[in-house]
Amino acid sequence: MCVNQKTSRGTESADSGAARKPQVVIVGAGFGGLAAAKALADAPVAVTVVDRQNYHLFQPLLYQVATAALSPGDIAWPIRRLLRRQPNARVLLGEVTVVDTARKVLHMGKRSLPYDYLVLSTGVRHDYFGRGDWERFAPGLKHLDDATAIRRRILSAFEQAEMETDERERKRLLTFVIVGAGPTGVELAGAIAELARKALSADFRLIDPRTAPASCSSRPARASCRPSPRPSRSSPWPRSGGSGWRYA
Ligand SMILES: Cc1cc2nc3c(=O)[nH]c(=O)nc-3n(C[C@H](O)[C@H](O)[C@H](O)COP(=O)(O)OP(=O)(O)OC[C@H]3O[C@@H](n4cnc5c(N)ncnc54)[C@H](O)[C@@H]3O)c2cc1C
Repeated sequence: MCVNQKTSRGTESADSGAARKPQVVIVGAGFGGLAAAKALADAPVAVTVVDRQNYHLFQPLLYQVATAALSPGDIAWPIRRLLRRQPNARVLLGEVTVVDTARKVLHMGKRSLPYDYLVLSTGVRHDYFGRGDWERFAPGLKHLDDATAIRRRILSAFEQAEMETDERERKRLLTFVIVGAGPTGVELAGAIAELARKALSADFRLIDPRTAPASCSSRPARASCRPSPRPSRSSPWPRSGGSGWRYA
């Protein structure tokens, strides 16, 4: 395997000694990237994990952050911590902008990183299937920022409803519609129901949060659903006991 070993300013050398190990660079520390790194724990290679965030995000529980049942820190773990016991792995924070497969070099802005083997595990982004104009009204749920934005909107709606004197407007504020009745949509609807019926039910004086309907719809069946108000608690991920009903 041939690697350009010239080290110019801003370029890391892959050759750190006489017994040079093959350099494996993994881009992305999501489920895929972390699994690849851990699978190489006993291999005679040097592993470099590059991510643009310094934390691994447990996306399946984003909906609980979006509904204030968990704090962002409960589902985001430092990548360094997750790999601290793996001596052949190191972690770099950086956004990969260019992959030069001919020269076997990654570029992260002005920095370069050579590799012998490359694993690209950069995940996906959400899609509105041609209706990008919906994003302004209904953010996706893929990043922590998405979850905290949704949480802010949901909790603000209850606050605004408490001050609203017009009954129709109050009802509008307390009606939540989720487009997409896959697992995430259904879980989110259940979590909103739990938030309204349990967590918030005693906290307001003028409105009754328990009346807030959360429904989700899906094409092509256009099904409306009202899932169980109790979301799944079966995740092995540690729980903190809730975040309190904060706004951001
Ligand atoms: C709301 C929600 C609920 C889900 N629920 C479930 C569930 O219940 N069960 C289940 O099995 N799956 C679930 N999933 C799907 C699951 O979370 C994903 O399939 C999984 O996270 C994908 O892992 P990944 O490693 O491919 O990508 P990701 O986890 O997205 O990781 C990609 C990583 O690459 C990094 N990255 C991206 N581009 C760059 C770049 N240019 N430079 C450096 N770093 C970069 C990102 O920062 C990120 O850390 C859910 C997903 C979502 C969004």
